[in-house]
Amino acid sequence: MDVAQRIKNLPPYLFAEIEKKIARAREEGKDIIDLGIGDPDLPTPNFLVERMCQEVQNPENHRYPSYRGLYAFREAVASWYRRRFGVSLDPDREVVALIGSKEGIAHFPWCVVDPGDLVLASDPGYPVYKIGTLLAGGVPLPLPLLPGNHFLPDFSAFPESLLERVKLVFLNYPNNPTSSTAPYEFFQEVVRLAHRFGFIVAHDLAYSEISFDGYRAPSILEVEGAKEVAIEFHSLSKMCNMTGWRIGFAVGNAKLIEALGRVKTNIDSGIFNAIQWVGVEALARVEEALEGIIPVYTERRNLVVETLRALGFDLPYPKATFYVWIPVPSGFTSMSFAEFLLDRAQVVVTPGVGFGKYGEGFVRISLTTPSLRLKEAMERVVRALGG
Ligand SMILES: *Cc1c(COP(=O)(O)O)cnc(C)c1O
Repeated sequence: MDVAQRIKNLPPYLFAEIEKKIARAREEGKDIIDLGIGDPDLPTPNFLVERMCQEVQNPENHRYPSYRGLYAFREAVASWYRRRFGVSLDPDREVVALIGSKEGIAHFPWCVVDPGDLVLASDPGYPVYKIGTLLAGGVPLPLPLLPGNHFLPDFSAFPESLLERVKLVFLNYPNNPTSSTAPYEFFQEVVRLAHRFGFIVAHDLAYSEISFDGYRAPSILEVEGAKEVAIEFHSLSKMCNMTGWRIGFAVGNAKLIEALGRVKTNIDSGIFNAIQWVGVEALARVEEALEGIIPVYTERRNLVVETLRALGFDLPYPKATFYVWIPVPSGFTSMSFAEFLLDRAQVVVTPGVGFGKYGEGFVRISLTTPSLRLKEAMERVVRALGG
């Protein structure tokens, strides 16, 4: 018996070695603080949990959901986009419900990528862009996000003859893992290039609401002409602490939304209706949910950045996301610095190289650890680095 070539072609799991070390340290009884995982520690807001308790008791919600999502959910998405971004969407043609945005991102290459087609994926980036491309038989090319360009891609670094052959570009701002943001003008430029070279843009907006100091992240769909070339992925996971519920959505170009809906119709049968009704409530009350979230991340962000700056690290206060992207001290690689922090401080951080080769030289800290534990982790880092 053998597995398929497409499974064998998937890149090796980079963290196997470090995960073994973590497991060994835990077995030895060491108190490990894991700052590696981007999964909110705060619970889902109570008003949403209460709504779920009601919806789960309604037998109408016990049957197969509709493939594209409840109309009420798609309408709630459209209404939030109008309110938040000033973008109007047709709930019937321009919105599809997803079992978390990861599901939609992973399936999307099946809609637009033929075997051998070129796909540019942010590097460092969320691994699903590349993996989804590989599973569909496409050829992923790294789209470097470099510190010298504020972690924005530089399309002029590619020959035009190559851009003409690109089928799809994956972007993500506010960005995981670099926590960088992109101005509206950047999206204008991307839309212009997409028209000129004939590629599709898939923008991942999962972190739009996790922002600080009054920063408001734009949607690519705010740009004129974007709906002709772009699809945008979003999710309740981060903005409402709902990672475990699995609910997200895609919006934008009607043809792309239709294609994604068609793939999904043939693979899954949608999201539990009770959860979609919770989604309706969540989208109507996003601001309320964020009131309990943003002050907590702001305080944690300040703690981490202040601590590291005092140790001599050169890094900005991120305007968005719950990550801090840290340049490793000279003499270290991203992997060796992560191992150093694990050995000397019993603190787990994610080596940047795990997000692609252009992530080398950085590690990522996630702010989704209870504040007291995060404080303890920072004290240990200070001791380990002799601060
Ligand atoms: C967390 C995250 C998502 C959201 O995933 P869900 O499947 O919606 O939970 C999407 N993109 C990025 C970059 C993320 O970090």
